[in-house]
Amino acid sequence: MAEYTIAVLAGDGIGPEVTAEAVGALRAVERRSSHTFTLREALVGQAAIAVEGEAISDATMALCQASDAVLFGAVGGAGVGRPDAKAQPENALFRLRKELALFANVRPVRPLPALLGASTIKRETLRGVDMVVVRELTGGLYYGKPSEIREDSAGAVEAGGASAVDTMVYSEAEIERIVRYACELARGRRQRVTSVDKANVLSCSRLWRRVAERVARDYPDVTLRHLLVDSCAMGLIRQPRDFDVIVTENMFGDILTDEASMLAGSMGMLPSASLGTRMTAHGRFGLYEPIHGTAPDITGQGKANPLAAILSAALLLRYSLGLTRAAEAVESAVASVIAAGYRTPDIATARGTIVSTGEMGAAVAERI
Ligand code: NAD
Repeated sequence: MAEYTIAVLAGDGIGPEVTAEAVGALRAVERRSSHTFTLREALVGQAAIAVEGEAISDATMALCQASDAVLFGAVGGAGVGRPDAKAQPENALFRLRKELALFANVRPVRPLPALLGASTIKRETLRGVDMVVVRELTGGLYYGKPSEIREDSAGAVEAGGASAVDTMVYSEAEIERIVRYACELARGRRQRVTSVDKANVLSCSRLWRRVAERVARDYPDVTLRHLLVDSCAMGLIRQPRDFDVIVTENMFGDILTDEASMLAGSMGMLPSASLGTRMTAHGRFGLYEPIHGTAPDITGQGKANPLAAILSAALLLRYSLGLTRAAEAVESAVASVIAAGYRTPDIATARGTIVSTGEMGAAVAERI
């Protein structure tokens, strides 16, 4: 009998609604196995700003550090705060990613057969799609300094007025560890890695390509191809079956993964894992969250799809706790409720029954 500690940060908006159902799935696994999950809840995002004065407190950071994994909901709100406000809910995620060294964001995209009709993309284009996007999460444009608006930029800009600067920086070491992770992942799949960059324009991308080539030589069984990000954006819609593992830098990954989410029908279907450098007794430490945000338009109405959060819990079981069979049990329970016709409004199809967030979660838990 093994014991695991999981930090649960539900956050704002629909975060608590969908996280409750993911916790329900973990409790179902616990009831049907000999494992014990100690779940420690803490505030994050707007909820934490209201009570603790900051998006994530030092105590919550310490709780995460001391856990085997973090189950995360979503942070943010409908027009809360000013863009330059210090206590922005999203700062919690940036702090977690940086301080927990969560360098690899992993997003599997595999549309369920029964949901092919829920996507805006043609059924025949979606059939057989099975890819994983690996996004670098702690470097690039979102972390580079300087990053600021310069109100007084006299002499700096010909036309005058304010100017702004953001900086994209990547080191060889940062590129190497993410490409290596993608190659390792590809080994357990169809052995194909697509490295996405903008090497015709950006120096960071030229270094990225050089390092990717070097790392790939250590994986002769894996085929590496390079694709420009604009071409990849097109390919994801035109021929998504072509992709196995995609590896890319932070901002390109941010954009491409939202695009890829539409292949699965709804943001409410896509889980993600953000994996760190730290190894625990059971696997790799990580933070697990649905890819969607707080969805202020449907908060508190029982309309949120909890499946992305539940599938994130499955990734947690697999990657951080090393419980592969439990992860598979959760994933097949999700496939089974979809096949049985349970639908939240975001994935409504011609045949199927509309259910609430709680009903969907309960239906999954029953089948685990
Ligand atoms: P969003 O993902 O919250 O919502 C986009 C659309 O998808 C909305 O129409 C919403 O109703 C729908 N949707 C999202 N999740 C759903 C679910 N589980 N079931 C059914 N429908 C769902 O994106 P947004 O509206 O651009 O952002 C809202 C807030 O969330 C903002 O404050 C943003 O900063 C924040 N955000 C947080 C995260 C995070 O915590 N990781 C990620 C993205 C956005």
